[in-house]
Amino acid sequence: MADAVDRVLSHLTLNSGQFHELSMRNRVVLSQLPLSLTVLLIVTGSLLFHPLVLQDGLFRVGVALQVFILLLCILLPWHRLPYPSFLIIPLLDFLPIGLMRHGAGTEITGVGLLTVFPVIWLAASGLYPRRLLAVGFFAALAIVWTPVFLTGGEITASSLTQSLLLPFIMLGIAVTIRVMTASMMDQQRVVEEKDAELTKLLAESGRRERLLNTIVNSVDVGLLAVNETGDPVLTNRKLQQFQALAAEDGGTSHSEQDLLIYQQDGRSVLPAARRPSRRAADGQVFSDYLLWWGQQPNQRVLSTSSRLMTDQSGSREGSVVTFNDVTELVAALNAKDEFVSTVSHELRTPLTAIRGYLELLMAAPDVPEHVVAGLEVVSRNSDRLHKLVLDLLAAAEGSPDIRPAPTDFPALVSQRVASARERNQNPAVRFEEAGQQGITINCDPGRIAQVLDNLLSNAVKYSPSGGTVTVTVQSGEDGVECRIADQGTGMTAEEITGVFSKFFRTSAARNAAIPGVGLGLAISKAIVERHGGSLTCRSTAGEGSTFSFRLPVHP
Ligand code: ADP
Repeated sequence: MADAVDRVLSHLTLNSGQFHELSMRNRVVLSQLPLSLTVLLIVTGSLLFHPLVLQDGLFRVGVALQVFILLLCILLPWHRLPYPSFLIIPLLDFLPIGLMRHGAGTEITGVGLLTVFPVIWLAASGLYPRRLLAVGFFAALAIVWTPVFLTGGEITASSLTQSLLLPFIMLGIAVTIRVMTASMMDQQRVVEEKDAELTKLLAESGRRERLLNTIVNSVDVGLLAVNETGDPVLTNRKLQQFQALAAEDGGTSHSEQDLLIYQQDGRSVLPAARRPSRRAADGQVFSDYLLWWGQQPNQRVLSTSSRLMTDQSGSREGSVVTFNDVTELVAALNAKDEFVSTVSHELRTPLTAIRGYLELLMAAPDVPEHVVAGLEVVSRNSDRLHKLVLDLLAAAEGSPDIRPAPTDFPALVSQRVASARERNQNPAVRFEEAGQQGITINCDPGRIAQVLDNLLSNAVKYSPSGGTVTVTVQSGEDGVECRIADQGTGMTAEEITGVFSKFFRTSAARNAAIPGVGLGLAISKAIVERHGGSLTCRSTAGEGSTFSFRLPVHP
């Protein structure tokens, strides 16, 4: 009941949104109701205070017509009639109002003001604005003038102008309502357009969300998006599978700190602060961060990466972490290293025997000269083979053992440059030394000599048309730096990115058949990093390369 009252009040207070949702019949009845109720009020008032008025024939006809018009509003099949046909009701309303006004005479004044109801209705309809304004004005005029003409009295200018106020008031009201209605209609149109746009946008965003969900759940990579406080805002199906794999005792907690995540040995638990979503929540950006998820025999190796998410103003909104299963790749790489290591070990034993017997043969007396020359060739090649086997073993070993000792670093560098000068068979290559003297650091001199030999021999090997190899030693606050710069073939930016990978060779090196297998730099980098230092490369194709390594004073 309260609801119904609310609805009626809401319609009566011109809640246009709800009003337009009603059926045509209800709208017509509701629009007629204020006039009908006011007439009812007048009739009741007349019954109580002016019973004489009710005896007037015209007044009665007017009231009856009002009732008849209300019935028309209720009974006519409005939904089948053309839309503007409802206008007939306010137009008809003028007749009973005129009759009632005349009938009420001077007993009840102000009945003519009822004209305001049809006038408002016509103006608020928004249809035929000018014509309906004129109709309202002339109808009100007719209501006040008709009695003047019909009563047979004298028609004077004063009798005609006396009641002109009513039509003009009605015209003013109609114009005001018309202006207000027009602006309301404009506003409503804007709101409706916005509403349609919003509905379209919502549908589009729903479509995009479904598309995104389908993609996110169909990729073979685990995905996690976290907000700036580290709370997950999105996970995909693949990540949930990884989490189930690493959940303790098949438990249901998929919270990262409860998962069984291990370090490279597959057994040491990864501390909470180094877990990927914790690092991502701290705003760290990382790539190829390898983690061992779950326990054997179902353990998987996941490569994780994190990127920042930013909002329109560029401030951090969170991060996206990806989890890629690289178990098979890691297993293949381990198998390759194992193979290289086994083969190298197998090669080393017969090679040692060959080299031993070679030495014996070369030292034997009475060996003819041409045989000695042949044995020297065999010896040189077996040395190369031996170095290659040692490189392969070192590469398979990964992290070399070092035995640091106080070392005069510039002296070590000079010694290796002198040795390189001796071995250099390209007269177009010159060596130059620059930099400081007398810096003692703690390093493994044998291993660092290996690094220097490799960098110096590369500088010569990859300078086939000659040039200067400049070796500079400098000490800094945190250690020493050695730079070896050549003017040789150089490398492209893309080649530089792979230069420290095992078995990497540039196409120029392969095409020119420069001997090498692509292990020297990988081993050198491992040695320098084992000392706590770094090895870097700058190079320009056709201009030359500079390899620099830094070593801390104490590794
Ligand atoms: P190797 O020299 O035995 O092939 P390295 O690991 O020492 O192996 O070098 C890897 C590759 O890097 C080389 O094959 C060569 O293509 C490139 N490279 C190394 N040093 C230089 C240099 N100084 N100038 C140009 N290219 C170089």
